Amino acid sequence: MTRTHPGRFHIAIPGPTNIPERILNAMHISSEDQRNPEIPNLTIPLYKDVKKVFKSENGTVFLFPGSGTGAWESAIINTMSPNEKVLIYRYGQFSHLWADMFKRLGLDTEMVEREWGTGTPPDEVEKTLKNDTHHEIKVVCVTQNETATGVTSNVEDIRKAMDAANHPALLFVDGVSSIASIDFRMDEWKVDCAISGSQKGFMLPSGMAIMCVSEKALAAHKKAQLKRCYYSWEDQIATNKDGYFPYTPQIPMLRALQESCNMLFEEGLENVFNRHHRIAEGVRKAILEGWELNLCAKDRYWYSDTVSAIVVPEGKDAKEVLSTAFNKYHLSLGAGLTQVAGKVFRIGHLGDLNELQASAFINGAEMAMIDSGINVKPGSGIAAASEYWRESLNTNYEKFKDNRNTKVA
Ligand SMILES: *Cc1c(COP(=O)(O)O)cnc(C)c1O
Repeated sequence: MTRTHPGRFHIAIPGPTNIPERILNAMHISSEDQRNPEIPNLTIPLYKDVKKVFKSENGTVFLFPGSGTGAWESAIINTMSPNEKVLIYRYGQFSHLWADMFKRLGLDTEMVEREWGTGTPPDEVEKTLKNDTHHEIKVVCVTQNETATGVTSNVEDIRKAMDAANHPALLFVDGVSSIASIDFRMDEWKVDCAISGSQKGFMLPSGMAIMCVSEKALAAHKKAQLKRCYYSWEDQIATNKDGYFPYTPQIPMLRALQESCNMLFEEGLENVFNRHHRIAEGVRKAILEGWELNLCAKDRYWYSDTVSAIVVPEGKDAKEVLSTAFNKYHLSLGAGLTQVAGKVFRIGHLGDLNELQASAFINGAEMAMIDSGINVKPGSGIAAASEYWRESLNTNYEKFKDNRNTKVA
């Protein structure tokens, strides 16, 4: 974009997110020979570090050129055979697109509609799996964070439901807008394919599919009959074990990913999650208490710590808020997608972000809403958020984090 305005253009979309200077600098390097003998010094420790981000000891990481969508495809074609059955709940544009991909790749897709603003229901998963006595369902899919509606599903609860049903299906989790921002535990939750991309919590440009797969997924891979080529795991495994790739890797991105892991570990993963929660709570105070508007997410159980979707009052147009924010205040807010287009706008609050940056998002969104004829009290958003942040930034943060994902819907 041509810069015609001084100062910072604020990015309040749920990806791509802000790229920290350290990561920009890490990418700014001359070309390197991808077969040079020092490449494994970069890649072997990098695989270990990425696994740590997924909280996995036993998993295998794959880094493909592509994006989150490519990681979805890789998970499917490497573990499944034609017409096998998959269970997926649809409650937003991303879970919709994932279900659509299963269909287009020739899988028997049991897609269950859920109200947008809710997520994957553990109790229904348990019931469905208990009824599947012949174990026809091979994969259960969960979009951990539905970016279109600002809804987080509780993967731990879903794992418990699968265990309660004593069902052997693989568990696939789309963590594109949650991994590295919201707690995720690959091994503890026995996730089989965890899928992410580079441009959200990892704070990188888009262009990389990042995934971690379990030993159980690798066993399924040995029997999987779907055709695959570029995204095949066997080709990666054959070369990755020595620190190389079956084709030319994007080395600047790999160096940037290493810097991203360094930054996440320096802050500490738990601190990263707490920071996301704290910023998100402040944004929610602005929306619910300051502006007295509704979130698309129906209940605290579903609240997302990386993105909030705000419902504009009946008769008002969220698109006008977006265009005013962009043109007048140099702020990119997230659009409402498909079913909620024009009805919601989104504030992405993930990645390289702090409270004062989020304050700019709140202020910009508030001014754009008032310009668009939405009746919110000037200054009310920031008043609510800043009170919360002043308090929660005290050292006794512990007392503020007890209400995450607690109430059952
Ligand atoms: C962004 C996103 C995707 C798509 O990822 P791309 O990198 O755009 O391919 C998939 N799922 C979720 C939940 C997302 O937020």
